[in-house]
Amino acid sequence: MEPKLSPLFTKDEIAAAVSRLAAEIRRDYRDKNPLLIAVLKGSFVFLADLVRQLNLPLEIEFVRLSSYGKGTESSGRVRMAPGAPSQIKGRHVLVIEDIIDTGLTAAFLLDYLGRKKPASLKYCSLTDKKERRRVMVNIDYRGLTVPDKFIVGYGLDCDEKFRNLPDIYVLEQ
Ligand code: 5GP
Repeated sequence: MEPKLSPLFTKDEIAAAVSRLAAEIRRDYRDKNPLLIAVLKGSFVFLADLVRQLNLPLEIEFVRLSSYGKGTESSGRVRMAPGAPSQIKGRHVLVIEDIIDTGLTAAFLLDYLGRKKPASLKYCSLTDKKERRRVMVNIDYRGLTVPDKFIVGYGLDCDEKFRNLPDIYVLEQ
């Protein structure tokens, strides 16, 4: 059976949210040289649009984490894949994430990076599925609030599909 996709945010709505976040980040980091750490794979489209609106001397690293296996339900466990960035100490670190759901990934990452003694540590997420939060995390830059549904598009996948869609959709189960 073909999966049913219901439109949630158009590319124009997403672009407006990205521009707003970029303006906030530009303002807060205007005299800094931040290190952006993007969470693969889902954040790659957001990151690409965001950094092109940041006229700052920034650097970009990637981390690969997993809490979701295949499908749409969280396993509840977060792990760091090999190859995590090592030069964190003394840096102004800004994590770039596609979606915060239970908050377990963000809590894990904030703890992991915080132990490496950055000068500052902030979190930016394009989308926030607030209703599903299981652990409290402070999100410094929040784009769009999404309902308790599984969403795809603009980098977000289901079993590696739909990342290339320019809009964001609810995947009807
Ligand atoms: P958390 O640890 O906050 O529960 O989940 C964060 C991760 O779960 C995200 O980085 C993303 O990979 C995945 N995730 C959570 N909700 C969704 C969703 O609605 N759609 C997609 N595609 N991934 C999701």
